[in-house]
Amino acid sequence: MTDILHTIAEVRATVASARADGRTVALVPTMGALHSGHLSLVERAATLGDLVIVSIFVNPLQFAAGEDLERYPRTLEADVAKLDAAADTVVFAPSVDEMYTHGPSSTRVTAGPVGDLFEGATRPGHFDGTLTVVAKLFNIVQPDVAVFGQKDAQQAFLVRQMVADLDVPVRLEIAPTVREADGLALSSRNRYLTEAEASAALALSGALAAAVEASSGGAEAARVAGRAVLEAETLVELDYLEVIDRETYRPVGDDFAGDALVIVAARLGTTRLIDNRSIALPPR
Ligand code: AMP
Repeated sequence: MTDILHTIAEVRATVASARADGRTVALVPTMGALHSGHLSLVERAATLGDLVIVSIFVNPLQFAAGEDLERYPRTLEADVAKLDAAADTVVFAPSVDEMYTHGPSSTRVTAGPVGDLFEGATRPGHFDGTLTVVAKLFNIVQPDVAVFGQKDAQQAFLVRQMVADLDVPVRLEIAPTVREADGLALSSRNRYLTEAEASAALALSGALAAAVEASSGGAEAARVAGRAVLEAETLVELDYLEVIDRETYRPVGDDFAGDALVIVAARLGTTRLIDNRSIALPPR
């Protein structure tokens, strides 16, 4: 049975007791509405730590004004049932008041310049809010290891940067993206899609595949090929498709050779989806 904790004090006591027994601690931060992608992170965490804590918290700080904070799915009971079936975990499901005792305008972590690019350009303040809650979770749980998904590549990049910049004593593991059989990356937001939008959403993974396919022609050829797939799909409104340097999270020049990342974001109706994939650019 999965234990559900709602307070920081309960988490601290649970972790202290595990530590006293010499057990290591792994943390998987989530916003709930768990799917197989989240569960793959939990299973990975179970191989890395003795006590696995899954946080489930829809963090208001990382939603920009006008975003889906109110309608974001909150399904704690179903989430706990999925965790029961997947692994031995402890859930930390705090209230907003428990996490933000001093209100939303208290101290924040700033993500720096990369926090203003791509997701941050469309979602102002998103990464400051994300890093603030991740920093809080790291301080509350003090895990040996924390597991994040490659699905949210910019988030993984910025968490890694925060851990390095602020000397946070935690090891990060980034787990691969879990997809539907048709290629659509699993996301808690997929449930917002109409049937027609869900089918059009395949253009995201299709665009990444087209970019990878065109990679022998260089980064610009990859961008053009990827964007063409999305522009051909009338239900899809492209936000960005870019080939970026994994070290800097900035667009690569056309002379770049080596491993890069192709990232995409698009809107389908009122739903915004993101995805990414590795791309190898050969010397030209
Ligand atoms: P979220 O609940 O959307 O904040 O996501 C919680 C964690 O699950 C993040 O580290 C995400 O990157 C990760 N995640 C979300 N979708 C997937 C997926 N399809 N495959 C693997 N990890 C995922």
